[in-house]
Amino acid sequence: MSIIIVGGGIVGSMLALALSYTTQGNQTIFLIAEKKLKSNWHTTYDGKSIALSIDTCQKIASFGVWSAIKPLATAITNIHISDRGSPGFILLNSQDYNISALGYIIELSRAMNTLLTCVQEAPGIHLYCPRKVSEIERFEEYVCVTLDNGEKIHGELLVAADGTYSDVANLCGIKRCTVNYEQVAVVSTVLTQLAHNGWAFERFTDQGPLAMLPIANGYSTFIWCQSYISQQRIEKWNDKQFLIELQDAFGWRLGRFLQVGRRKIHPLQLQTTTQNISHRLVLIGNAAQTLHPIAGQGFNLGMRDITLLADTLQSAWKHGTGAGDYLTLQNYQKSRMKDVRDTITITDGLLRIFSNRHAGLVMGRALALIMIDQIPSLRRVLAQWILGGMQWNTALRDKNETL
Ligand SMILES: Cc1cc2nc3c(=O)[nH]c(=O)nc-3n(C[C@H](O)[C@H](O)[C@H](O)COP(=O)(O)OP(=O)(O)OC[C@H]3O[C@@H](n4cnc5c(N)ncnc54)[C@H](O)[C@@H]3O)c2cc1C
Repeated sequence: MSIIIVGGGIVGSMLALALSYTTQGNQTIFLIAEKKLKSNWHTTYDGKSIALSIDTCQKIASFGVWSAIKPLATAITNIHISDRGSPGFILLNSQDYNISALGYIIELSRAMNTLLTCVQEAPGIHLYCPRKVSEIERFEEYVCVTLDNGEKIHGELLVAADGTYSDVANLCGIKRCTVNYEQVAVVSTVLTQLAHNGWAFERFTDQGPLAMLPIANGYSTFIWCQSYISQQRIEKWNDKQFLIELQDAFGWRLGRFLQVGRRKIHPLQLQTTTQNISHRLVLIGNAAQTLHPIAGQGFNLGMRDITLLADTLQSAWKHGTGAGDYLTLQNYQKSRMKDVRDTITITDGLLRIFSNRHAGLVMGRALALIMIDQIPSLRRVLAQWILGGMQWNTALRDKNETL
């Protein structure tokens, strides 16, 4: 029997690779990918980039893919967190924790091209691309997926890794709850006068949180959250106007902003499912939960779905209990619940605290930033969250980095 993964984004591809690696190609994995990726990615760096925590990088390394991703990744050595107009800030430095990086930034479309090559070479993976799912039938012992060309695939378990608007969830009647933040993220790259030297910045501004992250060739990539209302105004700005506004919001820590790439706009929402498992079905990554990018946790959380699911399936195969067995899936769900709930609560809480410009709260935030920066134990808790989520502390204990 086999596993069917729907969605060839970063989460679906990584799960396929993790399963191929852990089973050494001895299980059949069908990966259905809607989009055909271009092999000639362009060099303008204006696509979405994401921050990988050290925990995520170590997990990718544990199934042999980090060596392919690392050449595309830029290390974060320092993180500076500030609230615009307030004296407080927090500074985290990788050397304080005896590690060479606090995380890495990858440009998503470029990383996806590399992952596609890995997928094509990995034993046991059968790629259907470009293909979509048009029908799903679930039976007691197996699941049958019909593709948009009429072809049928059978498997013991179906994994939905098809993103926020999951067709699989819809076709299987999984209910989702959506909180619309009435915000968008404006994403692009900026060429800066001063070298970033591995510094990442998270700045809370009147308009919304602004993250400035280091990437290759002297560029930084930014994610600037704005209200729906501001979106129309921003879309009218030409490059010159945009650079002035961005500089005003960010400040001068990277010198003058010289050039900005093509802007892309992503609507922001919190989306959760009432259940991330059902009969012969598991939802992972954005299909299971879509977060606000304020803390850069979406894929990092999805990576923890991937590794736990890969471990759960591996153990089920080993003990002959069957990968689609409902008890197996329930164990998976139980083990994921706390991490998912905590990450959503912290991310959503951060957004609400830092989006509020009430004078008392602004002062409270300034004090909190100063306190966290000055008290090593508090700084350590924050570092732990950034390095790999609240349940993770290996890197802080283990000084021997494997990346
Ligand atoms: C502005 C922004 C910044 C972010 N920054 C960070 C960050 O710094 N760190 C971090 O960890 N996370 C970050 N995230 C979140 C991260 O980008 C997502 O969590 C991650 O990309 C989700 O991957 P996914 O594979 O689950 O979903 P997707 O990337 O949406 O992939 C789903 C795939 O499924 C395919 N598909 C859809 N329907 C079908 C179908 N019927 N049949 C077949 N295929 C189908 C789609 O074409 C797509 O390829 C950010 C998000 C945003 C918006």
